[in-house]
Amino acid sequence: MVPLSGFESASAREILAWAIEAYGDDFAIATSFQKEGMVIVDLASRISSHVRVFTIDTGRLPDETYQMMETVRQRYGIQVEIVFPDREEVEQMVMLHGPNLFYTSVPSRERCCEVRKVHSLERKLATLKAWAGGLRREQSGTRRLTPKVEKQGERMKLSPLADWTSAQVEEYIREHHVPRHPLYERGYTSIGCAPCTRAIEPGEDERAGRWWWEQDAKKECGIHFGADGKVRRAPVEEVETEEVEMHKGFTLWFTGMSGAGKSTISRALELRLREKGAKVEVLDGDVVRTHLSKGLGFSKEDRDENVRRIGFVCELLSRNGVIAVAAAISPYRAVREEVRARIPNFVEIYVECPVEVLAERDVKGLYKRALAGEIANFTGVSDPYEPPLHPEVVVNSSTETAEESVAKIWATLERLGLVSFDRSSLSHQRI
Ligand code: SF4
Repeated sequence: MVPLSGFESASAREILAWAIEAYGDDFAIATSFQKEGMVIVDLASRISSHVRVFTIDTGRLPDETYQMMETVRQRYGIQVEIVFPDREEVEQMVMLHGPNLFYTSVPSRERCCEVRKVHSLERKLATLKAWAGGLRREQSGTRRLTPKVEKQGERMKLSPLADWTSAQVEEYIREHHVPRHPLYERGYTSIGCAPCTRAIEPGEDERAGRWWWEQDAKKECGIHFGADGKVRRAPVEEVETEEVEMHKGFTLWFTGMSGAGKSTISRALELRLREKGAKVEVLDGDVVRTHLSKGLGFSKEDRDENVRRIGFVCELLSRNGVIAVAAAISPYRAVREEVRARIPNFVEIYVECPVEVLAERDVKGLYKRALAGEIANFTGVSDPYEPPLHPEVVVNSSTETAEESVAKIWATLERLGLVSFDRSSLSHQRI
């Protein structure tokens, strides 16, 4: 992240006017309709009649927030762009851990925020060159250094109200009759998802109503940005150091045809590893193609290059004590073996599923079109998929649930000595 100090003396209005002029439709305002977000929407709407506004609908928002979406539409004539989480990811998380997993532990809460908020935001930001949010330095210790404008990777992040006090925000709202989220009248000072937010008591910190059942954890949703501008999770070890123990790095390589369930099973496994305090990074083939392998096509050479790049990152992560989880079709055996040869603790997981089942599952109808000869280079139909000859684990998503597949993989990791379970203390399970 590169703070752009030249903007520090600029007013909120000047910063927004600059972004609207410089980025046009590639700029948008993110808001959850709290006071700060509404001030930014109001300011921007006075600069341009065509300003983009988006919000993340986690699926757990209070009714009053939906009312605010309608209020913004009517008052400003802005059609709020609503970003939803990935349905499959939410279904998987809820199936494995229940709808209210956030009450059970800080990592579970972070996981829920990751699935419902972080990934949604990440997808939206990938379509933008600049965006604005309502952070203020005064709000919390972790926000005290917030720059007004910073470069995050290739994207500009604006916090036009960074140096505003809450009194200034109130004054602006009063003077300009900015719509106010109804929950403020009921004692809320920070508004998020319904089950995770409550009104605060007199004298409590502004953010005390967020994740109110957590005593010592950092009250952030896990949305942070790395030097490359990518959305990052809050590191688990920051909040649960007691449960973290060092473990050796290794690579779990999921291979299988498109739609076989690699992402679903790898994410479920990731969650289980994180719950044990492990450092895990998932390299999902679809996500990798938008960053690390951007520009590569689907010829054999490009597919092999994609696998080599993923393998290179896995090697670096594993070497540094991280569990790297790759979920990529990786159709060709030779290049998978090449990657295996470079990584000492390499575990190949073949996610099997018959083509007929894949075609049934495929809501986009790509398999059917490929089977009808309409799509060239479609792995497993008009392009080869070479199953591994000796994978460490084979799971079959047409006959097993994701939970059963995870259990099978876990048993193999235990057998290989890559994870262990401390049976002497259930509260200190470790990997
Ligand atoms: S705030 Fe609560 S419900 Fe919303 S995404 Fe985070 S943990 Fe899940």
